[in-house]
Amino acid sequence: MCGIVGYAGNRDCTDVLISGLSKLEYRGYDSAGIAVFEDGKITVEKCKGKLEELEKKLAREHKPQGHCGIGHTRWATHGEPSDINSHPHGNANVSIVHNGIIENYIKIKAFLTDKGYEFDSDTDTEVVAKLLDYYYNGNPVETITKVLSEIEGAYGLEILFSDFPNTIYAVRKDSPLIVGVGQGENFIASDVPAIIQYTRDYYLIESDEIVSLTKDAVSICDIHGTKIEKELQHADWDVEAAEKGGYAHFMLKEIHEQPTAFRTTIKPRIMDGMPFIEECGITVEMLNSYKKIFIVACGTAMHAGLVGKYVIEKLARVEVTVDIASEFRYRKPIIDKDDLVILISQSGETADTKAVLMMAKEMGARTLSVVNVKGSSIARESDFVLYTHAGPEISVASTKAYMVQLSIMYLLAIELAYAKGVISKEECMHLTKELENMPEKISEVLELKDRCQFIASKLVTAESLLYIGRGLDYALSMEGSLKLKEISYIHSEAYAAGELKHGTISLVTEAMPVVAVATQSDLFDKTVSNVKEVKARGAKVTMICSEEVNVDKDVANHLVKLPKVDDILMPILAVIPLQFIAYYTSVLKGCDVDKPRNLAKSVTVE
Ligand code: GLU
Repeated sequence: MCGIVGYAGNRDCTDVLISGLSKLEYRGYDSAGIAVFEDGKITVEKCKGKLEELEKKLAREHKPQGHCGIGHTRWATHGEPSDINSHPHGNANVSIVHNGIIENYIKIKAFLTDKGYEFDSDTDTEVVAKLLDYYYNGNPVETITKVLSEIEGAYGLEILFSDFPNTIYAVRKDSPLIVGVGQGENFIASDVPAIIQYTRDYYLIESDEIVSLTKDAVSICDIHGTKIEKELQHADWDVEAAEKGGYAHFMLKEIHEQPTAFRTTIKPRIMDGMPFIEECGITVEMLNSYKKIFIVACGTAMHAGLVGKYVIEKLARVEVTVDIASEFRYRKPIIDKDDLVILISQSGETADTKAVLMMAKEMGARTLSVVNVKGSSIARESDFVLYTHAGPEISVASTKAYMVQLSIMYLLAIELAYAKGVISKEECMHLTKELENMPEKISEVLELKDRCQFIASKLVTAESLLYIGRGLDYALSMEGSLKLKEISYIHSEAYAAGELKHGTISLVTEAMPVVAVATQSDLFDKTVSNVKEVKARGAKVTMICSEEVNVDKDVANHLVKLPKVDDILMPILAVIPLQFIAYYTSVLKGCDVDKPRNLAKSVTVE
């Protein structure tokens, strides 16, 4: 994870680095630091805590003055969050910031200790700085190449050599890096939001490409020193998309962006009233030919995959397996060339998901990625890519990205069902029309936020909660539970409603509120029975269901009624109250909603 940024130009470098890091804090916020060329020397300022702690320190002590430097916001992997473990690392000759993990750092540390080097921090990163110093021969690119041949793991590295003031060197492997190109100034960063207020033009850096960047030039070469020409990319979203725009938190803003994100994602993929995903290169014949589908992802994206499984199996009658990427990659799955492996990742950089993609390719399967960030590693490496158009998602807890991942799952399921001949053209057109109508329905559900805020006020003192549901509602319960946990720090568990009585119901007391998702008409009565079972044991129940069902007054303590749409589409609406409940619970508890502790957004480490 971590966010790294670099600048060379005429502006006040410290200001540019701080503003860039503020846009990357979603990637980690254990500590922050900068290294700036000041009067020809490298000046480092860093400290534990969020970026605002660094800003206070700079105001209190010393704000480096210069026009070229690098910055870092950390998500600690090796060494606790502390001043000393903060990046940049190095010495008077070389200073680096790093995103990723150096797997063989212990071996390198032993080697360098033997050579007389001393280490200040517990990080894996510091060994790279000292190894650069050790091999330095006056030629930065040669030195970097030598170091690359010895380090193992994942890295996005930005490097300053004191002999080359006002030049930033950088290289990456399995951690993202982009170079922003301006007029008389250039930028480098983990992600586009860090640079978009200065320039929209950028290069995507590939693994093992070495960048040399000054204010007037960007040169990129491979590890053999061969120059590489690149096509300039253009970010087409607005600066405001990465700002809060009047909302208290990014998460709240992003929840409200869901109707637009949904519409923007499905619109270009509907033609003459039918789903049309062929733009990504998958033909109807191909869709028809896959024997099995694997959906592999992590966290919220995996929950979108679970909805995908229900929907694809129900509509298209194709077998779908959903897996957590970190499990799948080590369990020797049985995949072959007749299978389709779908990878879902907001950032397109999720380390475990990417590893599964490479594995699936090696095993001969076709790979389709569902990714939000254009040009990200997973998008580039997969055979086919369906981009979701959510715009930048800044809040660590994902909302709109999940929503658009769902929209793609539906499009795919409907198209697949038609390609397989399981549904008629009329049914296909009906479902597609319903999907097109969803943004209005999503907007209607956004009106329920006050109700959800009230419910959150009843849940905020709980120590633990249960989320229950059946079928699609169970998949939703998992997402609701994860959302609550990650931002409010209240423990919760999602359980298949019918499974409770096989053990977990023993936890239910009046101190254990239950959120029941019951949007599926064929399962409604069964879920109500399970709700009665927990209510009889003292639980206070919040029930999320469609406005069409009659719920006896004493079944639930709180009801959230959703507009009625086709049962199969209900998850698109039901997730919204779950998002609001988590959001308001977090706000009421005074948690840092957008930057929950111990988390970071794009998870680029294993
Ligand atoms: N491994 C480095 C550290 O712990 C960088 C962490 C990261 O990229 O998340 O400091």
